[in-house]
Amino acid sequence: MTVPSSMPEAVPPISKAGCAGVREQGGPLRSHDHAFSLPAGHDAADPLLDGLLRLVAAHFGVAAACVVPGEAPAERGLGAGVDETLYEALRVLAHGCGAGEAREPLIVPDISEDPAWRDVLAHASKPLRFVAAWPLYGAQGEHVGSLCLIDPAPRELDAAGRASLGDFARVAAALAVRPTLTTSGDIATSATGESTLHTELEALREHERLLAHAIAGSGTGIWDRDVVTGEIRYSVGWKAILGYADHELTSRIEDSYLRLHPDDRDYVKAAMQAHFDGRTPTYEVEHRIRCKDGRYKWICSRGKVMSRDAHGRALRMIGTTTDITSMREMAERLRESAALITNLTNEVPGLVFQRRQLPGGRAFFSYASAGIAEIYELTPEQAAHDTACIDALIHPDDLDAWRDSFELSAANLTPWHLEFRVLLPQQGLRWRQGDARPQRLADGTTVWHGFITDATERKRIEAELQEFASTDGLTRLANRRHFMARVEAQLTQVRRGGAGAAVMMCDLDHFKSINDRWGHAIGDDVLRHFAEILRTQLRTGDMAGRIGGEEFAILLAAADLEGAQSVARRIQEHFAAQPLGVDGDVVALTVSIGITLMNAADMSAEGALTRSDFALYRAKKGGRNRIECA
Ligand code: GH3
Ligand code: MG
Ligand code: MG
Repeated sequence: MTVPSSMPEAVPPISKAGCAGVREQGGPLRSHDHAFSLPAGHDAADPLLDGLLRLVAAHFGVAAACVVPGEAPAERGLGAGVDETLYEALRVLAHGCGAGEAREPLIVPDISEDPAWRDVLAHASKPLRFVAAWPLYGAQGEHVGSLCLIDPAPRELDAAGRASLGDFARVAAALAVRPTLTTSGDIATSATGESTLHTELEALREHERLLAHAIAGSGTGIWDRDVVTGEIRYSVGWKAILGYADHELTSRIEDSYLRLHPDDRDYVKAAMQAHFDGRTPTYEVEHRIRCKDGRYKWICSRGKVMSRDAHGRALRMIGTTTDITSMREMAERLRESAALITNLTNEVPGLVFQRRQLPGGRAFFSYASAGIAEIYELTPEQAAHDTACIDALIHPDDLDAWRDSFELSAANLTPWHLEFRVLLPQQGLRWRQGDARPQRLADGTTVWHGFITDATERKRIEAELQEFASTDGLTRLANRRHFMARVEAQLTQVRRGGAGAAVMMCDLDHFKSINDRWGHAIGDDVLRHFAEILRTQLRTGDMAGRIGGEEFAILLAAADLEGAQSVARRIQEHFAAQPLGVDGDVVALTVSIGITLMNAADMSAEGALTRSDFALYRAKKGGRNRIECA
C-alpha cells in the first residue's frame, strides 16, 4: 500500500472483484471445454454481486462475468488458485474502456483479430477471444471499475445485448460500491441496515474529503517511504510545497537527500537513523530543502515507521512535511526585534525597566536592562523576583517617598517621577531620577515602563548653582535675597507662635576711611575678616548675610533681646580683639549694631529689618561702636 498522489480525491475502491461463470453445481467456472479460474475471494463476502454475475453470465451465455476494479489493484483480494495473468489482462482491457475522461464501453468480438488487444492476452494462460467491458460509475460519477464478459469463443453483441449489458452494469455498480453484507441470510432484513451503512459511508466520505482539503490547505504534504526498496512516494501537496508538478519528481530516496541543504543533511540522516533504530518514538526534524527554482525552504518533517520485520528492521515509513518558511521568517524577525530592543535598552545610559505590581502587592522588575548594574549594582535576575533588594539600597530618608510615589502612581495611573538617593556598596551615596508610565492590566496588575538615570552630577551642579544664587561672592555669607527669604520664613514661624527671633544690623565704622587709607583690597580683606568672625560666633540655625557694601545682617532664631545683645557684644569684642594685620601694621576696626525682635504683627521681613536699621542709626548717632535696640 502506498499513499497515492490521488489520495485527496480518495475514491472508495470496490472492495473485491466479483466473478461468476456458467458452472456446474459446486464445480469450477466452465464454459464449453475451457476452464476459467478467476479471482474468487469475493464469493463468500458478497453473495449479491456474485449472484448478479452468475445471472449476467447465464444471460449472455458467456464463460464468465466479472467486475474488475478501477484504480485500486491491491484491493482485489485474490483468492487461492486465481489466475493472475488472466486477471491482469482483464484489468488492462477494462482500463482500456475506462481510459480518459469519456469512458466508452469496450466490445472486442475476436481478440485474435484485433491487433490493438491481441498482445495484451498473448501471455494469458487461458485462450480468450471475446471480451466486453462496461464502465461502472459510483454515486458521484467516479469510475469505480468495469463489468466484463469473457468467452474463449468469438462473439458479437447486438444493440439489445449492449443495452442489457448497460442495465446490468448499473446494477453491478450499485452493488459494487455499497458496503458488503456479511451473510446471505442478512439480505431479507438488510434494508434498514443497508441504508444506515450507506449514510455512514457517505459521512465517512465527507470526512475524508474535508480531511483532504484540510491537509492540502495547511501547506502539508505526505510522503510514504519503502525503506527496503528506497522508493518514496509524495502526495501532490508535497510536491506543490517545492513547486513541482505531480509528474516532475523521482521517487528515489537518494534523490531526496540531494534536495536537502548540505548543512542539514547529516542531522536529518542521523534523526532518521535514530528512529529506524527505535531510539526515538517518532522522526521529527526541521531543515532546509531545495525547491524547483533552486531556493531553499524551511520545512518540518515528521514521520513514523509503520511496519518492521521480525528483526525490528524498518520496512515502511509514513510522514508529513509542513512548510514552515514563513513561520521561521517571522520567528527570525521577532528575534531581531527582541535583540534590537535589548541592544537599544542596554546602550541607553541608565536602567530601562518594566516593573510590575501584582494585586496582592508584590512588586518586581519583569524586565531590567543591563544598566541595572550601574544604577543599583544588581543583576536583572536579582530584581526579577521582588524589589526588596532595591528597597534596601534606597537612602532611608527617601524610602517613604520612594514607596509612596509608586503607590500614588498606581492609584491614580499618573506618571511616576522621583528624584531619590541610593546608598550603593561600591559607589556610595548617589542621586537617581526615575520616570515611568503606569498601565493597569485586566487582572489588576499595574505595569510601569520607564527608566532610571544617574542624577548625581546634575544634583551637584544644581547645588552649586543654588549656592551661587544665594551666596555673596566676597564673604561667602548669604546674599541679601537669600537672607531676606530666610527672615521671611522665620516670620512665618513667629506668626505661628514659634520661638521669638531677633534681627541685628551691623555696619562697619568709618569703613570709607579704611578704604582710603589702606586701599580697596585691604577693605575687602576687612569685609572677609568680619564675615569670618560672624561665622565663628553664630550657632547652627542662626544666619548671617551681607546685605550691602559694609553692612551685614544677622538672624538669631530662638533668641530674646538679652540673648541678642550678648551675641552683639561678643561680635564687637572679637572684632576689636582680632584686628587685621597688614604688613606689620594693624587695621583698627569697630562695628555698630542695631537689634530688634521680630513679632507676629510684622507685616514683612523688610519691616523687621527697617526697625533694626533704625536702631543701628541710633548707634551711629550715639558715637559708633555701640549696640542699640528697637
Ligand atoms: P559710617 O561709620 O558712618 O558707617 O561711615 P562709613 O565710611 O563706614 O560709611 P559710608 O557709607 O560713608 O561708606 C561705606 C563705604 O564702603 C563706601 C564704599 O566705597 C565702601 N564699600 C562698599 N562696598 C565695598 C566693597 O565691597 N569693598 C570695599 N573695599 N569697600 C566697599
Ligand atoms: Mg554703611
Ligand atoms: Mg559704615
